[in-house]
Amino acid sequence: MSSFPLQGRKTLPARGQPWSELQEAMSALRSADTDWRRGRASLDVYYAGEDVLDVARRAYAMFMSENARAPQFPSLQRMQDDLVQISLSLLGGGREAAGTVTSGGAESALLAVRSAYRAFRARRPQVRRPHLLVPASVDPVYEQAAEMMGLDLIRVAIGGDYRASVQTLSQCVELETMMIVASAPSLPFGAIDPIEALGRLAREREVWLHVDACIGGFLAPHVARFVPNVPRFDLALPGVRSLAADLHKFGYAANGVSVLLYADADDQAHQAFEYNQWPKGTWRTQTLSGSLAGGAVAAAWAVMHYLGETGYRSLAQRVMHLRDRYLEGIERIGGLHVLGQPDLSVIAFGSDEFDIHAIGDAMQTRGWQISRLSAPAALHMTVTPVHDQAVDAYLDDLARCVLTARK
Ligand SMILES: *Cc1c(COP(=O)(O)O)cnc(C)c1O
Repeated sequence: MSSFPLQGRKTLPARGQPWSELQEAMSALRSADTDWRRGRASLDVYYAGEDVLDVARRAYAMFMSENARAPQFPSLQRMQDDLVQISLSLLGGGREAAGTVTSGGAESALLAVRSAYRAFRARRPQVRRPHLLVPASVDPVYEQAAEMMGLDLIRVAIGGDYRASVQTLSQCVELETMMIVASAPSLPFGAIDPIEALGRLAREREVWLHVDACIGGFLAPHVARFVPNVPRFDLALPGVRSLAADLHKFGYAANGVSVLLYADADDQAHQAFEYNQWPKGTWRTQTLSGSLAGGAVAAAWAVMHYLGETGYRSLAQRVMHLRDRYLEGIERIGGLHVLGQPDLSVIAFGSDEFDIHAIGDAMQTRGWQISRLSAPAALHMTVTPVHDQAVDAYLDDLARCVLTARK
């Protein structure tokens, strides 16, 4: 071990510093961060108000030192069971359904691909190169999964409505197709893919259908109570084998918690990993990440029970009302158009008249954190409850930026 630190490399401070100094230092570090409490973030933060945050914070602190995967904490096992059961009841899980709490959507996705792969291998061992078949709008985490597992991935064009095209996908299913992945909704366009029809296709062709409901999983069930015709995507649809939903998105939990659900517990059995040729005997796991933050599990459990159905529904009403205000405001400005028909809270809009990314730059100089799409060029956002503080100012600024671009 070298005792000479590299020039310029940060080292451990020689003496410890008091909390007051650290708090000050971290507050200073934070000064350039997006001000999400005022609705300046367009992505990545799901803030439902100080009361919800406070419940999550307290629950997190109570279980911060515990590893939720360690069997010596039955409290956290129980909370995970509850999270899975509540999720199954929201998302159409029948008697045979099962699920696992994971550290996030990425872990849920990686595990789903692995389970589908092992199920496929058991059934069609002779296939040399199995592949995933996905519409172009699915999250890149499935590319990552395929790369990690040495699988091919075929990405096909989506339809003009920004949804997966059942026709295109059905033309591409082959004997080597181990899995179709679709989104509810997709991150770029906010449209829920036609899961019911894809389920029929998947059943006919004996392919595993996985629904990435990371965004919609904990929003759509509540929205469907007051908005008619929200496209269905749940586990009750024939052909849906697995579904991922992020508690740390519209579950309003602290970061680091998601669920992976299966319509049939037999499919979940493929998730298991076991090894015994090492000094500590048999090692068994159902997941990828070894440790799981006890705090994240506890916060999710507490927030779900704090909000309940009525709490989630009123937040969902707020989100959908806000989304409509954004959509109307964007259409009213002129020269801008919304891409497709967003089903839930994700919206994207482009322009045939202006360089929409230049408008994004101008919005950024006005203090908005702007999310963009590249193909087609568009601005993009996920509407959350906190945007009631921001919607008017955002639309005013957007109108001004467009006016400037017009001149
Ligand atoms: C967020 C998201 C993921 C990945 O989830 P993480 O929780 O960030 O790991 C996967 N798919 C979609 C559609 C997402 O929005």
